[in-house]
Amino acid sequence: MIPYARQQIDADDIEAVVRVLRSDYLTTGPTVGRFEEALAAATGADHVVVMASGTAALHAAMHALDIQPGDEVVVPVMTFVATANAVVFCGGTPRFVDVDPNTLLIDLESLETVIGPRTKAIVAVDYAGHPCAYGGLREIASRHGVALVADAAHSLGGLYRGQPVGSLADLSVFSFHPVKHVATGEGGAVATSSRSLSDVMRRFRNHGLDKDHTQRAQTSTWDYGMQVLGYNYRLSDLHCALGISQLKKLRASVLRRCEIAAHYNAAFADLPGWSPLAADPDVTHAYHLYVVRLRDSVHREEAFRSMREAGVGVNVHYKPVHLQPFYMERFATKKGQHPVSEAAYETILTLPMYPGLTDEQVDEVLRVARSVG
Ligand SMILES: *Cc1c(COP(=O)(O)O)cnc(C)c1O
Repeated sequence: MIPYARQQIDADDIEAVVRVLRSDYLTTGPTVGRFEEALAAATGADHVVVMASGTAALHAAMHALDIQPGDEVVVPVMTFVATANAVVFCGGTPRFVDVDPNTLLIDLESLETVIGPRTKAIVAVDYAGHPCAYGGLREIASRHGVALVADAAHSLGGLYRGQPVGSLADLSVFSFHPVKHVATGEGGAVATSSRSLSDVMRRFRNHGLDKDHTQRAQTSTWDYGMQVLGYNYRLSDLHCALGISQLKKLRASVLRRCEIAAHYNAAFADLPGWSPLAADPDVTHAYHLYVVRLRDSVHREEAFRSMREAGVGVNVHYKPVHLQPFYMERFATKKGQHPVSEAAYETILTLPMYPGLTDEQVDEVLRVARSVG
C-alpha cells in the first residue's frame, strides 16, 4: 500500500537519537533549547516553546491568550478536531465558520460576521499546507482587537508573500506527528514574537512552576512556586534530537512536495473529474496534504474503495468539526450550518504526498486514478 503520508527517517536521524540515549539527559536537557532555537531560525519567530504534541501546543496557546468560560474563539470547521478541542479545554466556546470553496481555507467574510464582544481570538488553519491570507486576517484581528492564532500543523516550511509560516500570527502552532513535515513521534511547538506569552507557555508545560530544574540548579535552590495550574506537556531530549535532525531536511522536503503536486496538477488538467484545490500565487504551499475534489463522473466513495483496493492509501481530510457528535451535543451545532465545508466533505479525496514518494509511485497513483474515472 502506498500510504497518504509517511515519515522519512535516515541514518543521521537515528544517530542523533542514539547520541542522546548515551548522554546524561533523556528529557529536559540541552537538546530542548537547541531544537527551539533551530525552529525559531526556520520560522523567523523570536520565541519557540516545544510541547508534547501539537494538541498540547494548541492548549498552551489558548491558555496563553487566557481563554476562559464565556470567551469565544473563531475556528473554521474544515480542520482536525484538536483545533476546536483546545478552545474547549480552557472552557471557551468555538465559534465555527465556513471556508472558501476554492481553497477550503477560512472564509474572511463569514469570519467578520461572527466576531462579537465575546470573541477573544481567531484560529486560522493552513489547511493542507496552504498558508491563509494573513494580510487580511491580521487586518481583521487588529481592527476587532482579537488575537490571531495560526494552526500551522500543516504548513511548516510554507511562506506567505515571502514570509515564513511561524512569523505571521500572534501565536503559530506546529505538530511533529509522523505524517507532518518534521517527525518526532509525538511533539509540537508554539512560535511567537511575544516574550511574555512564551514565558507563560513554558510554565504551562511544566506544571505551572515558576522555575524549572535548570533554573533551580543555577540559583542553588530547591524552592519553586506554582502560580497557575499547568500540565506535564514537556517534549523530551530524545524527541528534540530527532526534531533537530529532521528540521535540516525541511526545505528539501517542501521542494519535493511541490514537485509532486506539480506532477499531480499537470495530470489532472486532462482529467475533468479530478479537480485539485486552488493555490494562491502569493504563497509557497507546504503540501502536507494533496487534496483533490471529485466531480460529476467520479463518485468519491467508489474512488476511495477502488483506490484502496488497488493499493493506494487515499484518505479524507476532514469531516467538518461541527458534525462531530460531541459538538452537536455540547454546542448544539447542526448539519446545514456550514454548507461549503459540508459539500466539500462529500467530494474530497487526499492522495499520497510525502517526500519519499517516488516518481514511479506518483505515476502509479495516477494510473489508478485514471482507471477510476
Ligand atoms: C495534526 C494536527 C493537530 C494536532 O497535532 P498532534 O501533534 O497530532 O497533537 C492539530 N491541528 C491540525 C490541523 C493537525 O493536522
